[in-house]
Amino acid sequence: MDFSFTEEQELFRKSVREFCKKKLAPRANEIDEKGEIPHEVLEDMAAFGLLGITISEEYGGSGADFITAAIAAEEIARADISMATAVYYLVGAGWGFLMDRYASKAAKEEILPDVIKGKTFLGIASTEAAGGSDIVSTSTTMEKRDGKLILNGAKTFISGVREAARYGGGYVTIVKTSPELKHKGLSLCYLPVKDVQGITTSIFKQMGREGISTGTININSVEIPEHYLIGEWNRGFYYAMEGFNCARTLVAAACIGAAQKALESGIEYIKERHIFGAPLAKFEGIQFQLAEDYTKLEAAKLLVHKAAWMLDRMYTENRFSNNEINKAVASAKLVAPTAAFDIIKDVLTWYGAYGYTREAGLERGFRGVYSYIIGAEGAQNIMKIIIGREILGKEFTT
Ligand SMILES: Cc1cc2nc3c(=O)[nH]c(=O)nc-3n(C[C@H](O)[C@H](O)[C@H](O)COP(=O)(O)OP(=O)(O)OC[C@H]3O[C@@H](n4cnc5c(N)ncnc54)[C@H](O)[C@@H]3O)c2cc1C
Repeated sequence: MDFSFTEEQELFRKSVREFCKKKLAPRANEIDEKGEIPHEVLEDMAAFGLLGITISEEYGGSGADFITAAIAAEEIARADISMATAVYYLVGAGWGFLMDRYASKAAKEEILPDVIKGKTFLGIASTEAAGGSDIVSTSTTMEKRDGKLILNGAKTFISGVREAARYGGGYVTIVKTSPELKHKGLSLCYLPVKDVQGITTSIFKQMGREGISTGTININSVEIPEHYLIGEWNRGFYYAMEGFNCARTLVAAACIGAAQKALESGIEYIKERHIFGAPLAKFEGIQFQLAEDYTKLEAAKLLVHKAAWMLDRMYTENRFSNNEINKAVASAKLVAPTAAFDIIKDVLTWYGAYGYTREAGLERGFRGVYSYIIGAEGAQNIMKIIIGREILGKEFTT
C-alpha cells in the first residue's frame, strides 16, 4: 500500500492552489454577496483546464482521472468554501465524464467543447417534486415521435438553472421511457434549457451556495433531437448510478477541501487568540475538539481518496465490482459533508462573535456544506441505504 500522492499529483495540487489563491479566493466574498460566479472566473478556470477536466482530450478536456479531479475539487472548495464554484466545477466534471462515456459522438462534439471552454454549463437534472431520493418514481416522460424525442414533466431543486438559461448548456436528465418497467424503464438524455421552446425556469432563494442558482425546469412538450439520448433506451438508471458515483466522489472531495481550509484557519486563530491569560489553544476543551476534528478530517480524506482511487482502477484496470464501488463512494459521501460541517461549526465557534459575521467567511462554508447533508447528489440517509443494501443484499431493501 502507498498512502501518498505521486509527485505529479502534488505538483498539480500546488498549481491549482496557486491559481485558486490568485483568481478565486479574492472573489469568494463577492461570489456569495452578489449571488453569481463572475464569468471571467469561469473563463480563467477554463483556460487553466479545470472545467470538464475529466472529459477526454478529443473534446478539449484533459481526460483527468478521478484522483486528479478530486484534488482540483478540494482546492476549488478551499478557495471558495461556499461550495458555489465547487458545484459548478464538479457537476461538469462528474456528469461530463458520464456524457463522454455514453452520449452519441454528435452530441459530444456539439456540447462538450463549450462546457470545457466555460462558455456553457452542464449539470444533472434528476430530482422531481414528488421526492428526489426515489429516482424510480421519476414522472418526466420521454417518447420518440417523428424522429424526435419529446419530453414532458418538471425537474426541481436543480443546480445551475439560471447559469444554463443565461449562458447556454443543459442537463444530463433522467426520464421515464417505459413506466411499467420501473427502474428498467428509465433513460438518460441531454436537455438544453436556453431559448428552448416549451422550457420555463424559476429560481429558489436558498440558504447558501449563493453563487450558483438552484431552480425548477418546467418541461412542456419539449422536442430534442434523437442523438441527445445518452446511451441505450431504458438503461438510464444504470448510467445515472454510475454518474452519481463519479459526482458524489467529487462532492466529498470538495467538502474535505473546505474543511481543511477552515481547520487551518482555526488552528491559526486559537494560537493567536488570548483569553483568561492564555491562548485558546492551551485549553483542553478546545484541544480535544481540535483533535476530534483533525481525526474526522483525516478519516474523511482516506475514504474520499480511496473512492477516487477505486473509480480510477475500475475505469482503467477493470478492477472492483459495482458493489465495492457503491459502498466506497457512499461511505465517502456519508462521512465527508458531515465531517466538514462539524469542523466548520467548531472553527466558527472558536472565532466567537467574529465567527458569526459575514466578514469571517466561515458561515459561507457552514451554509454551503449543509446542502450535501440535506441531499445535493443524494441525501445522507440514501447513502446509508446504499451501504446497507450493498452489505446485506437487495432482498433487505424496502
Ligand atoms: C442546494 C441543492 C442543490 C441541488 N442540486 C440538484 C441538482 O443539480 N440536480 C438534481 O437532480 N437534484 C439536486 N438537488 C436535489 C437533491 O438531489 C435532493 O434534495 C435529494 O435527492 C433528496 O430529495 P428531496 O429533497 O426530494 O428529499 P426526499 O427524497 O423527500 O427526502 C427527505 C428526507 O428524507 C430522507 N429519506 C428519504 N428516503 C428515505 C428512506 N427511505 N429512509 C430514511 N430516510 C429517507 C432523506 O435523507 C431526506 O433527509 C439539490 C438539492 C439541494 C439542497
